[in-house]
Amino acid sequence: MNIAIDGPGGAGKSSISRAIAEDMNLIHVDTGAMYRAIGLYAIRHACLEEEQITEKLPEIAVTLRFIGGVQRVMLCEEDVTDYIRSPEVSLAASKVSAFPAVRAHLLDLQKKIASENDVIMDGRDIGSVVLPDADLKIFLTASPEERASRRYLELKEKPDCPAYEEVLADMIRRDENDRNRAIAPLCQAEDAVLVDSSEMGFHEVVTHIENLIKEKV
Ligand code: C5P
Repeated sequence: MNIAIDGPGGAGKSSISRAIAEDMNLIHVDTGAMYRAIGLYAIRHACLEEEQITEKLPEIAVTLRFIGGVQRVMLCEEDVTDYIRSPEVSLAASKVSAFPAVRAHLLDLQKKIASENDVIMDGRDIGSVVLPDADLKIFLTASPEERASRRYLELKEKPDCPAYEEVLADMIRRDENDRNRAIAPLCQAEDAVLVDSSEMGFHEVVTHIENLIKEKV
């Protein structure tokens, strides 16, 4: 079974997919974490420009491990899962993800995982590019203000938390990058079901999508 969940940053794709995966015995694949791992590499090695990062790709091994069903992201054998959530890495991920060679580098791995497992995979182009034949496609969204305040609440507990306004501005900038890039832009696949979670609670969204899955599959 392949379920695709796309949508802008902060819409809750990952936490909602994780909960559904647990309830329905699926593997949750967070493809954003893979782009974030490459973004982290680009920051560490100061190679954020297209030519620089493209040249380095052969040595950038991104793999996933699933420990108790929970995804860990490995960058050249190092577990970087805990280092990829900062606003700096978010923007770097958004930047490098617009480069065709970076997308091609991750696409085969994403397709392979989906062909070998029952997955719920979240990202920006899952329904449109990675899994065009998914059993169910969801486009999960919410207003930018709602998404920014959810992200802000997550970051608030951490040291160096940016101000809410900065989180909102980053989110809007990232949405623009993701929607307007030439390759695999963020978009709702024609056959995707739109779920706007602006006015919905977490459990409400989970139950709603689980019902859609049960109906479809
Ligand atoms: O989902 P998340 O916010 O972790 O993704 C980080 C960045 O990775 C996004 O802003 C987007 O640019 C990129 N991304 C992508 N395609 C995906 C998943 C993420 O381009 N399938």
